[in-house]
Amino acid sequence: MKFGGTSVADLDRIRHVAARVKRECDAGHQVAVVVSAMAGATNQLVKWCNDLDPLHDPREYDVVVASGEQVTTGLLAIALGKIGVKARSWQGWQVPVRTDAAHGKARVESIEGAALLADMAAGVVPVVAGFQGVAPDGRISTLGRGGSDLSAVALAAALKADRCDIYTDVDGVYTTDPRIVPRARKLERISYEEMLELASVGAKVLQTRSVELAMKYRVRVQVLSSFEDRPGTLVVDEDEIVEKLTVAGIAYSAEEAKITVRRVPDRPGVAAALFGPLAAANINVDMIVQNVGADGTTDMTFTVGRADLARTQEVLATLKDSLGYQSVLADPHVVKISAVGVGMRSHAGVAATMFRALAEKGINIQVISTSEIKVSVLVAAEYRELAVRALHTAFGLDGPEPPAKEEEE
Ligand code: ADP
Ligand code: ASP
Ligand code: MG
Repeated sequence: MKFGGTSVADLDRIRHVAARVKRECDAGHQVAVVVSAMAGATNQLVKWCNDLDPLHDPREYDVVVASGEQVTTGLLAIALGKIGVKARSWQGWQVPVRTDAAHGKARVESIEGAALLADMAAGVVPVVAGFQGVAPDGRISTLGRGGSDLSAVALAAALKADRCDIYTDVDGVYTTDPRIVPRARKLERISYEEMLELASVGAKVLQTRSVELAMKYRVRVQVLSSFEDRPGTLVVDEDEIVEKLTVAGIAYSAEEAKITVRRVPDRPGVAAALFGPLAAANINVDMIVQNVGADGTTDMTFTVGRADLARTQEVLATLKDSLGYQSVLADPHVVKISAVGVGMRSHAGVAATMFRALAEKGINIQVISTSEIKVSVLVAAEYRELAVRALHTAFGLDGPEPPAKEEEE
């Protein structure tokens, strides 16, 4: 059972989570729990690091941001003890959850399950800190934002769990973020592949790598509400899905920044000279376009995670003389909107539908990228809601108008 930030946001909610865990134990299940930090806690910790120095040492960043989860493991263990459930907290390094050395976005390399299994066999519920592990040099590492999902799936795989239930503040995976499209529909099931693609283009409900791992180890993941008692969404193999949609969902990511390198000499090797050093600095580049100018130069436009913007500019500055470009423009006010569906493999015209729907709303497309089951566009940040809604409608995903809150009783 994994509980996200809003599920452990205050003591009442932690008590509620404890009761939920107790119910599973009382039903005869052996349970391991993974918790996130209290809602907002990690943002605050990240901000402190950035305020002191945007180019901080990532190893110290990890020490700071991993602390939120330490608090909630202890609190939940106390809350469980209080209602008669034996429990103890585990930090990532204690388990241990071993990761690589990529501080701030480390990969899980192995999890030692023996101690936790011994706990469970002895009737003790292990409460494990999500998001954190230990790097090869023995220092604390973190798994990237939203990484508690990954902790949960990795743990489920290591413990050979029957299920990995991800409790959150929505009751499942929807056709798009239900917070910005009230007519989004809940999916009973979604394929690993579509969930992976949706997560990778911004649907925060599951962290990308957690889905990757679930797919690899065939972990049965369920996304469900920690506040309401109803079945959630199962992430399953494609052939277990009855209702096949051309587009299964729309996602957005407001966490990107657009960089344009103006007037780079247009000759073989410039792309390698530009993107090689960015890769070496562990900066992921996402969308790329190159406009060829008439005068032997070219403009290279690409996107990076906004958190990497300062570092990207720093790397580019070191390349100015060797590359001989004119200038660098950075625009953080962009949002990437994507349509995802395995049906795209067999249906033509998805991109055309998407571009038409955006054109009808007068939304200018800045960059486009596609993959086998996805089309993404970059637009100005102010169009986020309008664009997501327009596409949700254009692909026939709208459900019925939700009832007004008062009528729900
Ligand atoms: P937690 O703190 O429990 O990990 P997150 O905030 O990381 O929760 O993820 C849940 C949020 O994901 C929801 O509140 C919702 O706004 C957002 N979300 C984005 N896309 C989707 C989607 N397609 N289906 C459901 N939720 C989504
Ligand atoms: N607390 C971490 C974050 O906010 C990890 C998580 O919640 O999954 O990113
Ligand atoms: Mg999350």
